[in-house]
Amino acid sequence: MKLKNILWIFIALILSGFISFGIKKYTVKASIPKEGYRVYLEGRTIGYINSKDELNDYINVQQEKLKQQYHVDKVYIPNEIDVVKELTYENQIDSVESIYNKINSISPFTIKGYQVIIDKTNSTEYLNDDNTTDTSTPKIIKINILNKEMFTKAVESVILSFVDDEQYEAFVNKQKIELESTGEIVENIYIEDEITIKEANLPTNEMIYMDADSLTKYLIFGNNSSSKRYTVKTGDNLEKIADSNSMSVNELLIANSEISNASSLLYVGQELSIGSVSPIFTTIVEKHVVEDQVVKYKTITEYDNKMYQGQVKTKQNGSNGTTRVTQKLKMINGEIVQAYIVASEEIVPAVDKIVVRGGKQVKRGDGEWSWPTNFPYMISSGYGWRWGKLHRGVDIIGTGRGSPVYAARDGVVTNISYHSSLGYHVVIRHDNGYYTQYAHMQNVNGNDRAGSAGSATKYIHVGDRVRAHDVIGEVGSSGGSTGVHLHFEIWDGAPYQAHSFNPLLFY
Ligand SMILES: [Zn+2]
Repeated sequence: MKLKNILWIFIALILSGFISFGIKKYTVKASIPKEGYRVYLEGRTIGYINSKDELNDYINVQQEKLKQQYHVDKVYIPNEIDVVKELTYENQIDSVESIYNKINSISPFTIKGYQVIIDKTNSTEYLNDDNTTDTSTPKIIKINILNKEMFTKAVESVILSFVDDEQYEAFVNKQKIELESTGEIVENIYIEDEITIKEANLPTNEMIYMDADSLTKYLIFGNNSSSKRYTVKTGDNLEKIADSNSMSVNELLIANSEISNASSLLYVGQELSIGSVSPIFTTIVEKHVVEDQVVKYKTITEYDNKMYQGQVKTKQNGSNGTTRVTQKLKMINGEIVQAYIVASEEIVPAVDKIVVRGGKQVKRGDGEWSWPTNFPYMISSGYGWRWGKLHRGVDIIGTGRGSPVYAARDGVVTNISYHSSLGYHVVIRHDNGYYTQYAHMQNVNGNDRAGSAGSATKYIHVGDRVRAHDVIGEVGSSGGSTGVHLHFEIWDGAPYQAHSFNPLLFY
């Protein structure tokens, strides 16, 4: 019996404990079931609110604000918002503002507009020959716009930043233009990337372009932030402004289509757009250009034993000639990438300058700078800032694949190699301490395929002494190059360890 009693007590204890525990729990959970509203978005609970009306009112106010912001009649709220009255034990009641923000971040309010899709998947990649080109550019770009007209207008503005107004008019109106002597005709303008525009519900938490001007800036600069303003000060000129902002004059002109050319006058207080030009789509312009190029006279030295050493006499004065060159140019976003010389006609021949020097001895380090390519040629890209980077040489085009590359001055070959960006290139140390570098040459097999230094050129070896105008290689498009051209640099010491100069200053 004793044992039985103990057992009962034990059971009673357990039961009482159990019950008291149960009561405790019950008092917490069910004391006051509150009346509230559960908010569902796309079938999932996103929070609880006190009042359905309060949320509705808040949404209405926000809708009105968005209507005013975008000048539209209608703002669409997500279809799948459900607000259901229920009894809840949930202590956490959300503010309508936080519910609104949650909705907007998951399934934003939208307005009717258009989505532009620029697809570069099948477009050619145009490299900067310094090959520090960022490969991060997305292949598909989506742009939200309010209406189609502003996009058409912005595209036209972008094109007009690359083409002269009159030339554009003539091209659009299919006017037949005959050049009387020199000048240029735009033969073709097109955008290389695939562009589609479709009606869409635009999320209001994304960028929506509302006017052609801001869209144009975005299409030219490639982003919204880098388009800064610069106010012209006393003593400013385009070159100075461009240089101090890491831009080329050409880029500055592209970014400010109201300035027609490099010699345009600026006024103090004028506002300019500043930033690295990186167009969203690729505008291609093909031009027919006829221009007169100056042919610099050569200096020929003769030696006369009858004259004293050091004595110099000019036997014949030199004079420059003129050659009329007809070219077909392909320009991508305002930069020349291809040039074909269709015809060249000598109008005035150049006359050599002949100097006579005493004695037979030829002094080391004598001589002039000699142009590294054939004539005629074109400079497609000058020395200076381009696409946010310093272009340390000039790009010479138009002489054709396989045409000779010449030593620019007497010197010794110090480097022949292949590099992913420079391609097949040669470095010469000149007797005056300057160095020249010649890049993107084709290899001994006449192609640009990556390879060893040994396949770069059959004309010279490292350590060879070369004279000005000796052939050192062949023009190609190896390494990080977009088209056939010679990239030519002049340094006052070893490349990248000294200063680079604009080679055109030496000729
Ligand atoms: Zn270059």
